[in-house]
Amino acid sequence: MTGGQTTVRVAVLGSPRAGKSAVTVRFLTKRFIGEYNSSEDMVYRHNTKIDENQVDIEVMDCSCPENQSLPIPETLAVWADAFVVVYSICDRSSFQEAKRLICTVQKLKSPSYVPVMLIANKTDLDHRREVEVEEGQELSLEYGCRFHEVSAADCYISVHIAFTGLMKEIVTMVQNQ
Ligand code: GDP
Ligand code: MG
Repeated sequence: MTGGQTTVRVAVLGSPRAGKSAVTVRFLTKRFIGEYNSSEDMVYRHNTKIDENQVDIEVMDCSCPENQSLPIPETLAVWADAFVVVYSICDRSSFQEAKRLICTVQKLKSPSYVPVMLIANKTDLDHRREVEVEEGQELSLEYGCRFHEVSAADCYISVHIAFTGLMKEIVTMVQNQ
C-alpha cells in the first residue's frame, strides 16, 4: 500500500501469438486492435476502482521469444503478485507451454501461494479448436488456479470478468500482507 492506494502487479505469460497482448490491451482499454508489437516486455499502468478500493494496476505483457522453454527470470517472480498464463484453443503446443509455465511460476513462488489465472483465448475460432474446454478445466484443477475461456477479439465481457475476478483476489491478498 502506498498513500492509501493499492498497487497490484500482474505478469502475463504464454506462447508467442497465444494472445497475451490482445487480452492485456482488451482488459485495460476495452479495445481489440489486431496486431501488437511483441518484441519487448511492456508494462501497462492503469488506475481503477475495485470494490471500494482505488487500485493501481501494473500489467507486464511479457514478450516471448520463438525459442520457448526459457527460464522465467527470478526478478519477474519477485515483481509479480500474480500471473496470467494464456494459451490459444487452436494451438495445442501453447496449451503444453501453459502447463509448463504454471508449474514454473508456482515453484518460483513456493512455498508462498501465488494467484494464477489460466486463460484459454480465441474461442471465436471454435472451428479450429485443438484444446477442449475440459482439458483447460482439468489443468486448472490440477494446479489450483482460476480458468476462463475468452475471446479477446469478440468478447470484451469474457476478458473483463476473468481479469476483474483475479484483481479482486490480488487486492485482498496485497492488503492483508
Ligand atoms: P502474443 O504474441 O501472445 O502477445 O499474441 P498477440 O496478442 O499479438 O496475438 C497474436 C495474434 O492472434 C494476432 O494476430 C491477434 O490479432 C490474434 N488474436 C489475439 N486474440 C485473438 C482472439 O481472441 N481471436 C482471434 N481470432 N484472434 C486473436
Ligand atoms: Mg505480444
